[in-house]
Amino acid sequence: MNKPQQTMWHTVIVGGGAAGLFCAGSFGAEKLLLEHNAQAGAKLSISGGGKCNFSNLLVSPRQYVSRCPHFCHDALAAFRPPDFMHLLRENNVVFEEKENGQLFARRAADITRLLIRRAKEQNTHLKTGVEVLKICREQDAFRTETSAGIFYSLNVVIATGGLSYPALGAGGFAAKTAAQLGLAVSEQRPVLVALRVPKQWRETCRRLAGNSLQAEVLVGKHKEAGALLFTHEGFSGPVILQSSLYWKEGEEIQINFLPSADAATLLQKNKNLPASFSKILAPYINARLCKTWLGPLDVRAADAKKETLRAAAQRLNQFTFVPAGTAGYTHAEATAGGIDCAAFNPHTMECKRIGGLFVIGEALDVTGRLGGYNLHWAWASAAAAANALKKR
Ligand SMILES: Cc1cc2nc3c(=O)[nH]c(=O)nc-3n(C[C@H](O)[C@H](O)[C@H](O)COP(=O)(O)OP(=O)(O)OC[C@H]3O[C@@H](n4cnc5c(N)ncnc54)[C@H](O)[C@@H]3O)c2cc1C
Repeated sequence: MNKPQQTMWHTVIVGGGAAGLFCAGSFGAEKLLLEHNAQAGAKLSISGGGKCNFSNLLVSPRQYVSRCPHFCHDALAAFRPPDFMHLLRENNVVFEEKENGQLFARRAADITRLLIRRAKEQNTHLKTGVEVLKICREQDAFRTETSAGIFYSLNVVIATGGLSYPALGAGGFAAKTAAQLGLAVSEQRPVLVALRVPKQWRETCRRLAGNSLQAEVLVGKHKEAGALLFTHEGFSGPVILQSSLYWKEGEEIQINFLPSADAATLLQKNKNLPASFSKILAPYINARLCKTWLGPLDVRAADAKKETLRAAAQRLNQFTFVPAGTAGYTHAEATAGGIDCAAFNPHTMECKRIGGLFVIGEALDVTGRLGGYNLHWAWASAAAAANALKKR
């Protein structure tokens, strides 16, 4: 019996998230978009707390971390925040600019709906509930094995994201497939995530959970400033989430809980007062929070030994510790590491060795800071691939 003739698709896109949807809608060839969730764009629809911080006016390569730091330059230069803003305006999707150049939609779901509609208008056959299992190179085509059968195409785009938020469909497909195709994958880790403190600090953090203050965080030579939130397990808040992008397991972190003052100088100046350290520092830091954080070090200045004063000042201005880990992929907003960019053309996202194979979005080893940069990378890398696919 003859084998039924298989359709040869122009392109199969694996992953109907931000990058896959945007890519699908950016070129007109007949294509298949495969997504294992029941709906495409699930993560996108809840991003930015339901308001989708879709880009940032300050986008530049400096906002990204990668083992190939120059890789993102071309795609980011070719696709700018106004390009996405223009698309939203054209389609009456309401958005606004917030602090630090962050751009937010009124409703994240408006963007998801727009991207699905746009993809369908551009000859995309969207199949949801289809798990992609394997991609193989076969002569001049690709064979994509899925839970719904086998599909053949001239081009394949891997847009399956990273490992963050497995509940929304994230998994190890991109890294596993890259390894099968002989491509290098740099070590992946959860980032833009809360940090856990070692056991000895856990009870203090638990007692302070829900409190926040302005802090500075030093990871190696990298310094961040912003709001820090105490949690039951350690620290969170924007300053910690940003810092987590630069932190690697086992490294020390230093936190300054009192960036507006030098505690040692202030306490020394007031060393004869009958008031406790936390009372003396009250103009600079919430006294109850300070009292709890200092614990037994919160003594009356007049009774304080030199070492106690020094230890208290250090705990406030230079609290140094090795985090016990992060809150993990279930809570991380992004995954650092991923498919090594060195094997890809930075203008097109096409694999240099395997023509017709494209990787876009978070699956690649390009990770942005908090503030709309990761979604902007999804759009920019998807646009770069789509421009190349138009010509194939
Ligand atoms: C809670 C949360 C909020 C966020 N908010 C923001 C924000 O406001 N601004 C910002 O810039 N970034 C935000 N991010 C990060 C941003 O969402 C991601 O960086 C971005 O979605 C990456 O796009 P992507 O298309 O590469 O991957 P994804 O959007 O993760 O899409 C990958 C898709 O592939 C599918 N898939 C995976 N494996 C398979 C398989 N084997 N077969 C078929 N389908 C598969 C997944 O189900 C998913 O739909 C947030 C992340 C999280 C977790």
